[in-house]
Amino acid sequence: MVATVKEVKIPKKPIPVIGSLQTMYNIGRFMFKKPVTVQYPEDKGEIPERFRFRIFLSPEACIGCTLCEQVCPNHSIKMEVWKIDEEAKPKGDVVIETARGARENLQNKRHIYPDVNFGTCTVCRNCEEICPTDAIYLTHQFEDARTRNSFTYSPKELTMQEDEVIK
Ligand code: SF4
Ligand code: SF4
Repeated sequence: MVATVKEVKIPKKPIPVIGSLQTMYNIGRFMFKKPVTVQYPEDKGEIPERFRFRIFLSPEACIGCTLCEQVCPNHSIKMEVWKIDEEAKPKGDVVIETARGARENLQNKRHIYPDVNFGTCTVCRNCEEICPTDAIYLTHQFEDARTRNSFTYSPKELTMQEDEVIK
């Protein structure tokens, strides 16, 4: 048995004159306007004055009071013991080895400093506002793309610029 193919007539569509004219009008309208997008990363665009993201830590100022950890609504901050320079410790002059060299911080008797998990931080600024010594603060820095396993910055990494942090 031979199958026959039935010819199907496709109806002709009317030319969408109004749609075409509208498209040409829109192209003409936006062709000479300043683009709303920027060529990131060469152009970072305008950062609003009140924008805040990346958290930094001043280890010399932190007294280990744990207030920042307590007020964080997302449990993004955990206090951790910073690696102590054991050789210098008995002399009582140098207690921590920061990204900017050895620092004295005799106020922080327990040697505990905050780390921050940027995967859960919602940039509420509670930690900055509660800190009695302005040791923890948010900045305009926002370029810190990283993998799922390295969202948490140690206290030492919180003292570094983004390109110094080992990812
Ligand atoms: S960063 Fe500020 S609030 Fe947090 S433990 Fe140090 S001194 Fe206390
Ligand atoms: S800014 Fe981030 S780390 Fe600080 S309290 Fe808010 S959620 Fe926690």
